[in-house]
Amino acid sequence: KPENVVVLGSINVDIGARVNALPRAGETVAGGELSVRLGGKGANQAVAAARAGATVAMRGAVGTESFGLDPVAALEGYGVDMTGVATLAGASGAALITVDAQGENTIVVSPGANGRMAAAGPSCAGALLLAQLELPPELVRDAFRAHKAAGARTVLNAAPAVDPPEDLFALTDILIVNETELARYAGAEPADPADEDEIERAARGLRRPGQTLIVTLGARGALALAEAGRLRVPARPAEARDTTGAGDCFCGALAARLAEGAPLDVALEFAAAAAAISVTRDGAASGMPDRAEIDGALAG
Ligand code: ATP
Repeated sequence: KPENVVVLGSINVDIGARVNALPRAGETVAGGELSVRLGGKGANQAVAAARAGATVAMRGAVGTESFGLDPVAALEGYGVDMTGVATLAGASGAALITVDAQGENTIVVSPGANGRMAAAGPSCAGALLLAQLELPPELVRDAFRAHKAAGARTVLNAAPAVDPPEDLFALTDILIVNETELARYAGAEPADPADEDEIERAARGLRRPGQTLIVTLGARGALALAEAGRLRVPARPAEARDTTGAGDCFCGALAARLAEGAPLDVALEFAAAAAAISVTRDGAASGMPDRAEIDGALAG
């Protein structure tokens, strides 16, 4: 089956340890057993899209040193086509994560091979391209230009917030940000989370003509501004256990459903249902729900 979603993004190895209290500057603390897991926004969104029913091919880079994990094999295990992913000499991207007894964390991301990527690989006509900003942003911009010229739809989850290269947002058909990113890109003060009018005003300022702009609002759901008007999608009630990866789940599931030709409102409901399941589970990639679970939640 030809891929209908291409994910251009980061592939990381998440190295984590639990601690009682996060260490202060100069302090050494004892941690629990080390966990070594697949991570990175690109990898997480590729897994989310594949689990949600898309045929996914990834573009990205791993290093020759991946700290005991084989990220290519891990992604292939989820059914993601990794033939377009480069292997570069040196370390893979890695995130050093400490989590304390209250669930507070600190994260240090070392870009590794993600930051050494020089070219995004072949563009593909007909597919939907989904990217984030953990790769060199100019590379994402150039890939968007090539894919659009080939007739692809472009979806950008503009996370983490970086200085976007010129033209990147203009080349984006569907832009997805959270509230913090919205404030940063709209050049506004972070809005009072309770004041949705303020959030909507900032979103209207950021949105380009013809573009669909989606703002995710955590446990409050999402707001979408499109050519056809405004959509407010409530979150599905969920007993949150681990919200890391909720945004990645939302983006991957949304892309999977849009690539099937679903209209925006249907795809948004689907993404919200998928993300609500993911927050009830530990881990990012490992917590992504499959198609039957998402359809079941929507039906129930
Ligand atoms: P993260 O960086 O934590 O992965 P994010 O900031 O990119 O997340 P959020 O806005 O927190 O993204 O969440 C994305 C979507 O996930 C929301 O639009 C919502 O549909 C769903 N979601 C998040 N938290 C919850 C929750 N507690 N209960 C139900 N759904 C949730």
